[in-house]
Amino acid sequence: MAERLRTVDEQLKIVLDAVGALDPIELTLMDAQGLLLAENIVSEVPLPGFDNSAMDGYAVRAVDTRDATPEHPAVLPVVGDVAAGATTRAGMGPGLALRIMTGAPVPSGADAVVPLEDTDRGVARVAINRPARSGECVRRAGEDLPAGSPALGAGAALGPQQIALLAAIGRDRVTVRPRPRVLVISTGSELVEVGHRPGFGEVSDSNSYLLTAACRDAGADARRVGIVPDDHAKLLDVLESMLLRADVLVTTGGVSMGAFDVVKQALSELGTVEFTRIAMQPGKPQGFGHLGNQIPIFCLPGNPVSALVSFEAFVRPAIRKLLGKRNYFRATVQASALERMDSPGGVRQYRRGVLHREATGGYSVSLVGGPGSHLIASMAASNCLVVLHEEVTSVAPGSRVTVMPLLLANR
Ligand code: AMP
Ligand code: MG
Repeated sequence: MAERLRTVDEQLKIVLDAVGALDPIELTLMDAQGLLLAENIVSEVPLPGFDNSAMDGYAVRAVDTRDATPEHPAVLPVVGDVAAGATTRAGMGPGLALRIMTGAPVPSGADAVVPLEDTDRGVARVAINRPARSGECVRRAGEDLPAGSPALGAGAALGPQQIALLAAIGRDRVTVRPRPRVLVISTGSELVEVGHRPGFGEVSDSNSYLLTAACRDAGADARRVGIVPDDHAKLLDVLESMLLRADVLVTTGGVSMGAFDVVKQALSELGTVEFTRIAMQPGKPQGFGHLGNQIPIFCLPGNPVSALVSFEAFVRPAIRKLLGKRNYFRATVQASALERMDSPGGVRQYRRGVLHREATGGYSVSLVGGPGSHLIASMAASNCLVVLHEEVTSVAPGSRVTVMPLLLANR
């Protein structure tokens, strides 16, 4: 009887059940960009902090300008200037004006600011061309955010706007879910460091670059450790040295049935990493489990396209979960197939595609390169994965197909 392969969804559930959001840490504001807040933030201060002018103009009492017109302006003595940065509140009697700059505290006794444009811009006296409304051009203390009110809630994503708010209320450190630290190694005795011209039979290690970049794109703090040859003892040594520095380990290569598939051989013996065959193409052989003190390890296949597809299927959702995100998955779109697409039934096939946005607003998609998992150049020419589900064997041109756009992520 044929072996029953595990489905992508079954494997994904095993992976996601094994990881949870990382414990919160305190970071400075700029280091917290892109992360999720892990505390409720209440502002101790009001925003704005004091009544201040929205314009360059003249602080007045609105009643003193009640009957002003261009022909019969209200003419008021100007008794001083208030600039932004004035740290005491000026006072102003009835029938007078103070020249005031944007952001400067509105003097006590004034209830409106008349913009320069509606005056003769006088220095000793000012002629005001129209009546001011009480409250006009005054930004009230606390009108944006009263003191003691919630500013941001736990779970909020810290984009530029949220970072601005935290800065405005004086928070220079916040408690957030940290970026998972991911360490990536490539395994394979054929691999050479990038920059060393490969000799006959040798291959530049592109996977550790691919996966480190993909981890970073997913929001992780990822580093490449480098290449490990197909050598049992060396592999275990390097993995051991990585354990204290990582929240997640990722390896590529060495997980198939070959005589030198060292990752599978060495880690199977430890009993904490499971090697399975998944009903997907590419990416059939997968390893997942834990090493050391429960550090999740993903052992991905070595073919570059398999490595990317495996990353998208399993590692990226796990990284997003570790970050504390509630939605771990990339958005997919439905697109009209621009060509016939065939897929073996019973497996989930991921093809490289080019997604086009139609003038009508919908999407269409064409394939780039064949299904071969060694096609790095066509992978680089793609901007999406076309997902041909288990039940699909053929997609006719014009039919709808599921597409996972691989956009540069929101970190
Ligand atoms: P493996 O999964 O180790 O059997 O490798 C499958 C194929 O992927 C072989 O052709 C390898 O040379 C290639 N490969 C493995 N690791 C890498 C890597 N880090 N960079 C580029 N190609 C790789
Ligand atoms: Mg290998």
